[in-house]
Amino acid sequence: MLQTVDVGELSVSAYRAVVPDQIMEPLAAVARDLRGARVLHLSATPYGGGVSELLRSAVPLYNDLGIETTWKIISGQPPFFTFTKKLHNALQGAGDEPITAADRALYERTAAENAAELTADPQFSGFDFVFVHDPQPSAVLSFVDRGAASWIWRCHIDTSSPAPAAWDYLRPFLTPYDATVFTMAQFVPPDLDRARVDIIPPAIDPLSPKNMSLDDRTTRAVLNWIGIEPDRPLITQVSRFDPWKDPLGVIEAFRIVRRTVPDIQLALVGSMALDDPEAWEVYRAISAESEGDPDIHLFTNLTGVGNIEVNAFQRRSTVMVQKSIREGFGLVVSEALWKGTPIVAGAAGGIPLQVADDAGGVLVGSVEQCADALGALLTDPARAAALGAAGHERVRRHFLLPRLLLDELTLIAGIGAGRVPAELTTTGDHRDPVCGMTTYTAESGHSTELAGRTYRFCSRRCQEIFARTPMGVPR
Ligand code: UDP
Repeated sequence: MLQTVDVGELSVSAYRAVVPDQIMEPLAAVARDLRGARVLHLSATPYGGGVSELLRSAVPLYNDLGIETTWKIISGQPPFFTFTKKLHNALQGAGDEPITAADRALYERTAAENAAELTADPQFSGFDFVFVHDPQPSAVLSFVDRGAASWIWRCHIDTSSPAPAAWDYLRPFLTPYDATVFTMAQFVPPDLDRARVDIIPPAIDPLSPKNMSLDDRTTRAVLNWIGIEPDRPLITQVSRFDPWKDPLGVIEAFRIVRRTVPDIQLALVGSMALDDPEAWEVYRAISAESEGDPDIHLFTNLTGVGNIEVNAFQRRSTVMVQKSIREGFGLVVSEALWKGTPIVAGAAGGIPLQVADDAGGVLVGSVEQCADALGALLTDPARAAALGAAGHERVRRHFLLPRLLLDELTLIAGIGAGRVPAELTTTGDHRDPVCGMTTYTAESGHSTELAGRTYRFCSRRCQEIFARTPMGVPR
C-alpha cells in the first residue's frame, strides 16, 4: 500500500487571529457545503520542498473543516526520480532532450505500479476528489479505474514555456483530469484546455513551527547555538540545493557586498528531498566554493536545521535573499515577508506576485543587481523595515493558508456541482485578470471599470499590465 503521511491535528479557528474575515467567513460556508466529502492528496515526497510543506498543514485543516482528507506518497526507485527531476527541469524550460523509450517505460511502469497499490487500498473507492501534485504522480490516473471520483492535477512549477519534448510527453496524461490548477495565469501552457484550468497560488501556514512567532531571545539563542553571531549583519538564503536557486550566484553577490559591509555573514540553508537526486551535486559545488571562508555557513536538514532554525534565520537575518533563476512560487519569500524581513529576490516565477509593488523587497536579475540591492538594504535600515512591513501585510491578505483552502474548496465544490473551473472563475469580480489570483480583500485603488464591469487587482503592477493589454490577458 502507498505510504500515508501522518499529519496530526490542527484547528481552523486558531487562524481567525491572523487571517482577514473576508477569507475566514466564506471558507466556513464552502466547507459546510462540502462536509462529509472525502479527499486524497497524492504527491512524491513527505518532506523537503514546497509541496510537502503545504500539505503538512493543509491536510489537517481539511479534516478540521469536516472534509475527510488523506495524504499518500507514491513510491519509485531512484532512476524514476532521476527521470522525474529531468522532466521537472524540462517542463520549466531547461533543454529539450528527447524522452527516451527507457524513460517512458520506467515512468509508465512506476505509475501503473502505484495505481495498482492505490486501487488495492480499501480506502480508495471512497474518495470523492483526488489532488495529484506535480509531474511525478501525474500518470497514475491513466492506470486506475477512477469510479465516481473527480481528479485534479495541481502543478506547482512554472510551465509557461516547457521544453516541447517533455510537454508533448506529459500532456496526454493530463487530458483525463477534471481540472488542472496552476500557480499563476502566466504558467498555463498555451495548448491546455482553458475551460478546465484554475489558478491558485500557494500559501504559508502562519501558525506552523516554521512561521509562528518566536521572541528575540529565542532566535538569538537558536542562531548562536548553530554558529551564527547574532549581533553581526546576516544574509540568508533558504532553499533546496538546486541550480535554479542559484546558490553560487548568492556566494558571488555576498563577496561583492562584503567589500562595503565587512562584518557581513552569509548562511545558505538547504534541504535534501527524497525526489531530488541533484541536490548532492549542488551541495558539493557550494561546499567547494565556500570552503575556508569563515563568513559563509552551510546548513542542511540532515545536520539538524529544521523548521525552528529556518524560522530563526528568517526572523533574525538583516535581509533574506532568494536569487532564483526559475521558480514555481517560492514559498520562502512569503515566509520571510510574514516575519517582516525584507528580501532581495530573483524576478522569477511566483516571486514578483509576492513582491508586487515592492511590497517586501527588491527584485533582481544579475549577481551585480543582487549585490547592489543587498548593499542598499543593509545600509538603509528604515527602508528595509518599511519594505518588511509592507510585505507582511501583502502576505496576510493573499498568501496565508486559509486563502488557499478557500480557493481549493471553491474549486471542488464547483466540480462536485458539475461545473468546470472556467464557470467558477468568471462568476465573481474577485479574480485578478492578470495573475489569476482571487482577491478576497478589497484594496483601494486597485480596480478598473471596463465595459460595465469592475475588475479587481492584487497590486498596482497587475492593474498596469491590464491597462496596457486589457483584452489580451489570459484569464
Ligand atoms: N525548506 C526548509 N529547509 C531548508 C530548505 C527549504 O524547511 O533547508 C523549506 C522552505 O522553508 C520552504 C520549502 O522548503 O517552505 C521550499 O519551498 P519553495 O516553494 O520556496 O521551493 P521549492 O523547494 O518548492 O522549489
